[in-house]
Amino acid sequence: MAAAQSGEEQPISNILIVIAMQTEAQPVVNKFELIEDPHSPFPQGVPWVRYHGKYKDLNINLIWPGKDPISGVDSVGTISSALVTYAAIQALQPDLIINAGTAGGFKARGASVGDIFIASDCAFHDRRIPIPVFDLYGVGSRKAFETPNLVKELDLKVAKLSTGDSLDMTEQDESSITANDATVKDMDGAAVAYVADLLKVPAIFVKAVTDILDSDKPTAEEFLQNLAAVTAALDLAVEKVINFINGKSISEL
Ligand code: SAH
Repeated sequence: MAAAQSGEEQPISNILIVIAMQTEAQPVVNKFELIEDPHSPFPQGVPWVRYHGKYKDLNINLIWPGKDPISGVDSVGTISSALVTYAAIQALQPDLIINAGTAGGFKARGASVGDIFIASDCAFHDRRIPIPVFDLYGVGSRKAFETPNLVKELDLKVAKLSTGDSLDMTEQDESSITANDATVKDMDGAAVAYVADLLKVPAIFVKAVTDILDSDKPTAEEFLQNLAAVTAALDLAVEKVINFINGKSISEL
């Protein structure tokens, strides 16, 4: 994914954090003392929430897609995250996007609960179109913006991320995830990557492992059990990433 051509050498000033769940977003909001925008730039009536604030030299915008108007739960998944990312880029013109969230991980590929990964690539595992070239479109693999200095300085693991709209994993999903060579699995990343790539905004993906996919424990149970503790680790990682970014240009990441 290309960095925005202009401004590559200036210090980053405007960052957009996209987070799917309230449990994941709230500690970041608290940590950076972000405030909810009562006049959000989004269409009237949508549940999307913008928090914003200044931290050191950075304008921080955190966008959370809010609660689904019908069911009342967090609007997780690819549709919501693509929509809010699109609307937030249009309204806020960020220099950099950080998609932070939880993920499932494969222990056979080196993931443990609480690990923090930076995604090198994002792809979909539930868009099967078995027609030449459409198959590649379905997988929709995209490179994340590369941040070799950040990864080194913060000693983060780097791996491929696979995205789909289900928390559980069918056998077909599993073989697609393996074909994507992914270590971590979420429900938002590749959708954010798609929009960021369309609009040419560099995007990075910070994913904390809540559940192990190649274990006997049911994913939903393990996810809920670990969510609070892993969210704390995720928020610490986001804080470190933001401190690293402060004062740097895109090309220094
Ligand atoms: N049942 C949960 C909601 C789960 S949605 C609740 O009641 O709170 C799961 C969210 O966590 C998504 O945003 C997704 O990106 C992430 N996630 C964590 N583990 C995952 C996994 N194993 N597979 C897919 N997404 C996962």
